[in-house]
Amino acid sequence: MCSGRVDLEFVLKAFLNGQDGVFIGGCRLGECNYLTHGNYHALNMVALCKGIMEHTGIDPERLDIEFMSSGDGILLAEKINCFTEEIKKLGPAEHSPEIRSGLEKIIRLVPYIKIKCREKLSEPVKGKRDSYTLFTKQEIARILKEAPTYYINPEKCKACMICRSRCPVEAIDGASRQVHVINQDKCIKCGTCIEVCPPKFSAIDIISGTPLPHRISENI
Ligand code: SF4
Ligand code: SF4
Repeated sequence: MCSGRVDLEFVLKAFLNGQDGVFIGGCRLGECNYLTHGNYHALNMVALCKGIMEHTGIDPERLDIEFMSSGDGILLAEKINCFTEEIKKLGPAEHSPEIRSGLEKIIRLVPYIKIKCREKLSEPVKGKRDSYTLFTKQEIARILKEAPTYYINPEKCKACMICRSRCPVEAIDGASRQVHVINQDKCIKCGTCIEVCPPKFSAIDIISGTPLPHRISENI
């Protein structure tokens, strides 16, 4: 019902699934049907997504957003025809293994990216031109490079199982009396585990820029 519902992950997944272009239609800016101004959120999300696409090797022109009212049927048809022509000119999108693995990696980081960019994503902008300068290439590269690694210190973990029950993607392995371990391939870097690990244990560390320590012990 609202262009603000179009998540960054939906767009990236569309490209991962082989689409050549993504077109988002939203209500006119300043004429949101709700109080949420979701169309502004969608616009800034598109700006961020274009930067991520460029970083990944996908032409940002393959993503567009346009705003119109429900009475603008002719305008909608014109915009979609125009976008379709542009995509035809660009030809099929490249789906090399590098691009696919880059997209898969970034899709797992979407919750982290949204947390890092939350202020800019809700920044009031005047329109497309204003929004498209929000995220620089360097900033996107830095955010992706600085993605943290969450690590459970086996010396401190008391196997209380709280983090395992709260992880939204079941990325934590463990059982009663067994040191818990984060499956890095599944982790989406949401930071929930570090928030819920009881302070008296403080068993979770954030590691950045250095390799993960080896596991030392399994049982408590
Ligand atoms: S940061 Fe922690 S809670 Fe979040 S996905 Fe990774 S392991 Fe799970
Ligand atoms: S919440 Fe902390 S102490 Fe409890 S299992 Fe997870 S890492 Fe271990």
